[in-house]
Amino acid sequence: MRSLKISIENLHRNVITSRYNSFNEGITRTYGLIEISLKCILNFVLKPYSKILKIVSSSTMIKAQINEIKSLLSTPKSIVIVPHKNPDGDAMGSTLALYHYLRIYGHDATVIAPNDYPDFLKWLPGNDSVMIFESDLDASEALMSKAEIIFTLDFNALHRTGEMTESLENSDALKIMIDHHQQPDDYAIYTYSDVSMSSTCEMVYNFIEYLNDLDKIDSTIATCLYTGIMTDTGSFRFPSTTTRTHQVVGDLISKGAENAAIHNNVFDTNSYSRLQLLGRAMQNLKVIPEFRTAYITLSQAELDQFNFKKGDTEGFVNYGLSLKDVIFAAIFIESEQEGIIKVSLRSKGTFSVNKFSRAHFNGGGHDNAAGGRSEDSLEATIDKFISILPKYKDELSQK
Ligand code: 5GP
Ligand code: MN
Repeated sequence: MRSLKISIENLHRNVITSRYNSFNEGITRTYGLIEISLKCILNFVLKPYSKILKIVSSSTMIKAQINEIKSLLSTPKSIVIVPHKNPDGDAMGSTLALYHYLRIYGHDATVIAPNDYPDFLKWLPGNDSVMIFESDLDASEALMSKAEIIFTLDFNALHRTGEMTESLENSDALKIMIDHHQQPDDYAIYTYSDVSMSSTCEMVYNFIEYLNDLDKIDSTIATCLYTGIMTDTGSFRFPSTTTRTHQVVGDLISKGAENAAIHNNVFDTNSYSRLQLLGRAMQNLKVIPEFRTAYITLSQAELDQFNFKKGDTEGFVNYGLSLKDVIFAAIFIESEQEGIIKVSLRSKGTFSVNKFSRAHFNGGGHDNAAGGRSEDSLEATIDKFISILPKYKDELSQK
């Protein structure tokens, strides 16, 4: 167990922000590029003299902030924990793990998800306590207005919560962000952001470790955390999976996470119609060898034909990326209800789908996994996608 102890001093890549500090408050009021460059310059010049800058490499600073959070949590509070819209395994695993942890201390904690999530996550411990904002508006609003603390997990900007955005913006609760997506917004009093992390679940494990509470992780918390790490790492195969990730996962198994059962619950509970839909998606798969790109389309009619249910298309995009020589994969899924085409993007190597999505599809995410949307028709969206690729010829022909 000794090797699992990562000291806070080693966490120099983490960003923990405190907006309590007036100097930092001043900086956060400036926007755009100027803000970023100013922060970088100030960070570099003043780091040795100040504890107030955004990128923190001082262990005392991190410790100070952790102590602040610790003292905040030392008496029971009303707490709301929020994942992003269309929550995935990491979003639900991390929020429920934190929920169970906070309940140990007698906090009145509730997970409020912006909307419903797939059945393959409904077995998670604590699932029955999750409130769905979309379908339980009044109760959700009531809880949010009395909340003293709101944790936002697995997303980097409030608009990622869809219809919940306004309530979150208007809330006076102290916000704490834990997230591994790029370019986090600056809405939280405490921001624990580390884009090198495999998953928000791995970060919640760290967070609990910072609070000196690893021994509080029981089989329930371990199960939730294991689920999110497993799903966000594609079962421990994406490059974000590190030695440390495996150590954390090993510890979670030793604390009671039943790895084989969890894998079975998430991946081996397919419906027949979902596999048929996968068959159709594979028939629709197109490859553009020149740009080492593959893409899949699914129209609303096709989804209807195969009795589509939330979560059924999860993971489909990865099949494109499993083709030899393909380094960029996309899936375009029509949603008549939302009036949009949902876009999921994946890449291998240095081609950043986060940047690609931000530039062309109103989205974002990570370098190798991002999402976005298009308000054009499915055909027009595909035409646009194909027409953009030549701009990235150099990056997409990397070996
Ligand atoms: P997916 O393709 O599975 O929906 O999303 C891939 C990754 O990108 C996930 O980490 C997800 O949270 C993130 N993501 C998806 N859509 C968006 C978006 O519109 N904006 C941002 N910033 N991230 C997104
Ligand atoms: Mn995640």
